[in-house]
Amino acid sequence: MKLCVLASGSKGNCIYVASQDVHLLVDVGLSCKETVARLHAIGVEPEQIRGILITHEHIDHIKGLLQFASRYHVQIYARAEVVMYLLEKCAGIPKQQFTPFYQNDFYIESVTVSPFEVSHDALCCVGFSLYAEGQKISIATDLGYVNSRILQNMAHADIVVLESNYDTSKLMSGPYPYATKVRIRSNKGHLSNEDCADAIAQLCQGGTKTFLLAHMSENNNTEEIALYVTASALYRAGVPVQQIYLEVAKQHSVGKLFEIKKGEGYDQFEE
Ligand SMILES: [Zn+2]
Ligand SMILES: [Zn+2]
Repeated sequence: MKLCVLASGSKGNCIYVASQDVHLLVDVGLSCKETVARLHAIGVEPEQIRGILITHEHIDHIKGLLQFASRYHVQIYARAEVVMYLLEKCAGIPKQQFTPFYQNDFYIESVTVSPFEVSHDALCCVGFSLYAEGQKISIATDLGYVNSRILQNMAHADIVVLESNYDTSKLMSGPYPYATKVRIRSNKGHLSNEDCADAIAQLCQGGTKTFLLAHMSENNNTEEIALYVTASALYRAGVPVQQIYLEVAKQHSVGKLFEIKKGEGYDQFEE
């Protein structure tokens, strides 16, 4: 399987995931034009995209959805509640272009999609684990906390993309109104560096070695702090940090194109 974070953060989220024959996007939070430009940057034509998986209805996840889906006739997969919302918001996309899902796994050709609910201030927010070719990629951004059910769904993934949104002291001493700070920190807000780091330390026990820290706040976090907090948690948990690949998913530029190679252990990815 392949993965490339095309954008990550409050100004737009879009992740490219592919098996050998199925190309997918998770969210289209960039404009259609920018999404196409970033796909071109990794050698993918928008016409190749077979499906768009939607995590939730916030604008930083669906900004370019209407235009991209209608221009390239791509099937949209979203939770039933979110489909109802999108049908109104994205009037112009025919109903049959939406496939609602609930809690069960579903298939997009050779890719198995396992959605899992996460807690966030949206109609319904989900993360996804995607399986193909004996490999697994798990993605969760926009979540107030991680619990054992979420960890279980993401366990044993080859690559995990997990939110590392804010540094608590930076958030609390920063410029946001108090109510916003409370919302971000709440169970329905975003994931702190500390909570992300704890989750990653646990996922390492299941064998995952590649982690991308995602949806990082531009005001309440820095790459250095987020990486340091996670690396410290790994060290405390006794995980050999030098065997773990840890990177921050970028907001303004296309990330690395990871390609998981069969049975080659840790050095499974290429740029
Ligand atoms: Zn978001
Ligand atoms: Zn959100």
